[in-house]
Amino acid sequence: MKRIAILGSTGSIGRQTLEVAAHLPDRLQVVGLAAGTNTSLLTEQINRFHPRFVWHSRAARTDLAGGQEGIAWLPLEEMVIQPEVDLVVMATSGKAGLGPTLAALQAGKQVAIANKEVLVMAGELLLPWRGQLLPLDSEHSSLWQCMMGERIEGISRLVLTASGGALRDYSVDQMARVTPGEVLRHPTWKMGKKITVDSATLMNKGLEIIETHVLFGMPYDRIGVLLHRESIVHAMVELVDGMVKAALSLPDMRLPIQFALTYPDRLAGLAPRLDLRAIGRLSFAEVDWARYPCLGLAVEAGRQGGTYPAVLSAADEVAVEAFLRGRLRFLQIGELVEAVLADHRAAGRADLASVVAADTWARAEAGRLVERALERV
Ligand code: MG
Repeated sequence: MKRIAILGSTGSIGRQTLEVAAHLPDRLQVVGLAAGTNTSLLTEQINRFHPRFVWHSRAARTDLAGGQEGIAWLPLEEMVIQPEVDLVVMATSGKAGLGPTLAALQAGKQVAIANKEVLVMAGELLLPWRGQLLPLDSEHSSLWQCMMGERIEGISRLVLTASGGALRDYSVDQMARVTPGEVLRHPTWKMGKKITVDSATLMNKGLEIIETHVLFGMPYDRIGVLLHRESIVHAMVELVDGMVKAALSLPDMRLPIQFALTYPDRLAGLAPRLDLRAIGRLSFAEVDWARYPCLGLAVEAGRQGGTYPAVLSAADEVAVEAFLRGRLRFLQIGELVEAVLADHRAAGRADLASVVAADTWARAEAGRLVERALERV
């Protein structure tokens, strides 16, 4: 029995993690739940899974109806280090996940991590605990599974696939005029808004390249991207002898989630089975890096290291938020991120304080540039 705490339980990954837990009641026990603002769903989850520990952003326990006896209301950093917690599912988004992730790792917990911002902004800080991090993202789970049984010297390259997002068939002119509604219609995955916009700019793939570097220690010149419209092949591992291992499945996050939670065991799961006859055809193509400036910006920030990935991630968050509110045009997302990165002066070695300071600086700088862009309209 593995006892899990889910941070971000009402979001897309959190909800699917609970589906997996409900499917494997003999293997997984939900002991902690934490959610932001969705009080009604959190109430349902509490009544169904009876966690011992709960955190809720508004601390409005009176909003949560019924069935709360015996629950301890704990701050996230305290919840994740409880002796009753074996594994933490980091399913929040944004930098609020940073403190709890570090606390859990320092306490020796396994952390199944879907939070991109934490891996990207604090990648270098997490290196001492790399062995306790379990990937949840489909691409990184696939890389992890393909690398099993291989020695690192035998691996020549890691390749991530990208669906191309909602605008993959748009001309650059069309991209310039696109609305948030169009961008949010992802062709193959159903996800939160921020990541869906990031999929259209390919910033998501750029962040995933940085995550790949952090999780597996692979140098940037040995991490590649391939356009793959069907989202069936999630990642590939090229071996030095020329053999390529690929991981295939239907796009369903419950599969990588379950693998992280039951690792090293494999159990029958909830995801529908892949029928390649029904898919018929798998296509692959080179990514046009000029069309997706965010991809290059991410790789460059990753190579620079230090506080640059934190600046990239924070600037992108502000830019995407401004786009979703109709305050920036789509192509301005990349322009804004580029401008903030260009203004950044790195502060020597990255420690927690400098990473947090870089994040704060980048948000303010990005906010200032959004205002300036609005004045010009
Ligand atoms: Mg992904």
